Amino acid sequence: MFADLIPDLKSAMPDLRGRLLGNEPLAPLTWFRVGGPAQVLFTPADEDDLAYFLQRLRADIPVYCFGVGSNLIVRDGGMAGVVIRLSPRAFGATRVEGDIVHAGTAALDKRVAEAAAAANLSGLEFLFGIPGSIGGALRMNAGANGGETKDILVEATAVSREGTLHRFDNAAMAFTYRNSGVDTSFVFTADTEVIRARMQAVQEHRETAQPIREKTGGSTFKNPPGHSAWKLVDAAGCRGLRVGGAQVSEMHCNFLINTGDATAHDIETLGETVRARVKAQSGIDLHWEIKRIGVARG
Ligand SMILES: Cc1cc2nc3c(=O)[nH]c(=O)nc-3n(C[C@H](O)[C@H](O)[C@H](O)COP(=O)(O)OP(=O)(O)OC[C@H]3O[C@@H](n4cnc5c(N)ncnc54)[C@H](O)[C@@H]3O)c2cc1C
Repeated sequence: MFADLIPDLKSAMPDLRGRLLGNEPLAPLTWFRVGGPAQVLFTPADEDDLAYFLQRLRADIPVYCFGVGSNLIVRDGGMAGVVIRLSPRAFGATRVEGDIVHAGTAALDKRVAEAAAAANLSGLEFLFGIPGSIGGALRMNAGANGGETKDILVEATAVSREGTLHRFDNAAMAFTYRNSGVDTSFVFTADTEVIRARMQAVQEHRETAQPIREKTGGSTFKNPPGHSAWKLVDAAGCRGLRVGGAQVSEMHCNFLINTGDATAHDIETLGETVRARVKAQSGIDLHWEIKRIGVARG
């Protein structure tokens, strides 16, 4: 349990409209379903409310924004400071104007792809198969089936840690492989893009190639230049490897899964074991694509 910050926050922010919860479990907010609580979980009422909150939050309190948790391992000791979760009600709207799709960052990638397809726009079909939100796609430069976020983004808006609104065009997002160069303290709030169909084919491919119905975080390691992470993991004999309740997927061995009772520690230890075996077998260092956050249980 973390110290209760809620009374201090409420008295420093009398006009706050969003929801503040203390020591709130984070496991239900991630795909792996593991990890400890957030000291504070804040759900802003809208963008102005988020800015108001950040302007008045003590500078020494860390802030971390969650999407829908499909790329996160929260450690078992939880997260000190504030976790921000954008609700689909306030940040999930999607609308199409001409050949531009406007989407809030809590909108699911899949819904944004569907909205584009319904408007006969092409280019965003790759988003249909990624189980995250647009906020996560911006931070991770999410991509699949030959497309990635940097190919389709026009502009994103974000609120800084100081509570000011900023706009980032595609170049300013400084996209690289599964990352954006924008400082990690920014919370993306809305964005702009383009799209179209072939989504059925994308979905069918996923159902057979990836364990998308498991508790997982998607691709665990980035592909090293010139190599496939899954091939290196397989060659190192790690397919099906287990630590506690965590297992390297038999179906796609760059996926780790929580088979039921895994802790975050099990999953992270399994990942590190795989990295060590791959290093020993091939001499190649694998780098985590999944974000590991929070503190280990003491
Ligand atoms: C079964 C499965 C398949 C997957 N397949 C793919 C794939 O094909 N391609 C791919 O790229 N990824 C894939 N992933 C990983 C994951 O879906 C993507 O990284 C996705 O973009 C994460 O979005 P999210 O909303 O879940 O973000 P989260 O996991 O909640 O967060 C990921 C990062 O984004 C940041 N973030 C989220 N929202 C915001 C915001 N509003 N403002 C600022 N930062 C924010 C977080 O701080 C964190 O650093 C897969 C995951 C699973 C479980």
